[in-house]
Amino acid sequence: MVLGIISKNYKGFIILVEKFSQLNLSKEFLSNLDSLNYLKPTAIQQKSLPLSLDNNDLIAQAKTGSGKTVAFCIPLINKLDIKNFRVQSLIIAPTRELANQIAQELRKLSRHVHNMKVLTLCGGMPFKPQVVSLSHQAHILVGTPGRILKHIQQNNIDLENINSLVLDEADKMLDMGFYDDIMEIISSLPTKRQTLLFSATFEKNIEKLASNVLKNPVLVKIEEEEKVYIKQKFYEVREDNKTALIPGIISSNKAKSILIFCNMKIKCDQLADDLYALGLDVLTLHSDLEQKQRDETIILFSNKSYPILIATDVASRGLHIDDVDLVINYDLSLDEKIHTHRIGRTARAGKGGLAVSLYTHSDLDRYDIIKDTFPDIIEEDVSKIEDDLSYKIDSPQRTIFINGGKKHKLRAGDILGALTAGIGLDKSDIGKIDILDFASYVAINKEKIAYVLDKLSKSKIKGKFYRIYEK
Ligand code: ADP
Ligand code: MG
Repeated sequence: MVLGIISKNYKGFIILVEKFSQLNLSKEFLSNLDSLNYLKPTAIQQKSLPLSLDNNDLIAQAKTGSGKTVAFCIPLINKLDIKNFRVQSLIIAPTRELANQIAQELRKLSRHVHNMKVLTLCGGMPFKPQVVSLSHQAHILVGTPGRILKHIQQNNIDLENINSLVLDEADKMLDMGFYDDIMEIISSLPTKRQTLLFSATFEKNIEKLASNVLKNPVLVKIEEEEKVYIKQKFYEVREDNKTALIPGIISSNKAKSILIFCNMKIKCDQLADDLYALGLDVLTLHSDLEQKQRDETIILFSNKSYPILIATDVASRGLHIDDVDLVINYDLSLDEKIHTHRIGRTARAGKGGLAVSLYTHSDLDRYDIIKDTFPDIIEEDVSKIEDDLSYKIDSPQRTIFINGGKKHKLRAGDILGALTAGIGLDKSDIGKIDILDFASYVAINKEKIAYVLDKLSKSKIKGKFYRIYEK
């Protein structure tokens, strides 16, 4: 089996970070990322960074161009003891071009660190100057297998302080016949080290390499994104009939996480009141809310504590809301670009989704334009919407609020520990954990919420009592 080597007993939780600021990185590091215009981690970075920063061995697989270089450079730089002017990381790459690119990325990513020295050791370059440079020390070495090995055999590298090893484009290195060289290099490295293996593919030979050089590796894999298909249904309705249709649209599609767009914030509030009166739990998101409230709203919706979020386009712009199974355009978008943006929120990782749009007679011009952009729109009559009264529109989880966050040095692991080892909750009852500067939010199976509120407020998290309440 291909995944046979993967540590089955990986104890941690795989926590997805959606922003670099959710990682345990210094302020200077974060602002450097920002200045490089790395505003948001890519998928492979989201998945791998919490693990690699936590010093795990990793096999990371993602296609070319997915941001793997940054994914391994960040933990190396973060881990570096800059005052110890000795080689602490070794990066092996298949070609000189790639090694140079990596060195360049390392230099960019470490602009906030003073005097970090990166040295490249590639074949096809004069050997002697490399020997001289090595004698002057460096923090990180990047090179190709043959040349690195040659330096090791001639004792030109002080290997003692190496605590991280990266194999980049491991598949390519094996294809080029570097297996023996790599194994020989590794045999002379300290065994107490972190090893990160990056590859675009994961075949038998990678498994062999990995099982020889990694310890309890965690596999992080980003599937090739398929072209997502979003099914779109359009209904012509009367303005005064829109709200009454919402429960039927949701229940007939058995939707669990629903994003409803209105064109104006006053509509959002009114619709929220009306749906609430119909017994539905809704959140609203519009620009009248303060940033803090908006952040909280997004957290409560994305962690599946509320089934419905009603939003305006302005408020939702730039926000990371996805994994929604139904988008409802309560009001038709003002143009086809906004429409595309809205329905994209239901394009879940390769799975596609459903978008339902309501339009009135006075929207016909706009409807025509949107229809030109999306020729496979399904036009249906409202009489076809059958309210499934047996379907309960609700969320499986509720959120507890903890008045402590990053500034109190709380980490997801601390909260998980307090909930599991501390008060005996099962891991399966715990959902997403969001840790902000001064507060944390944890989604909990709603059947267990009373228990958690009671017990957790009487127990310590990382040695301290916090105020706990339901959101
Ligand atoms: P891979 O190694 O997966 O082939 P690279 O590491 O070369 O991909 O990254 C491809 C490009 O993406 C590079 O130009 C890099 O600067 C850019 N990139 C990496 N991470 C981010 C990010 N978080 N935001 C924006 N751009 C990024
Ligand atoms: Mg790469």
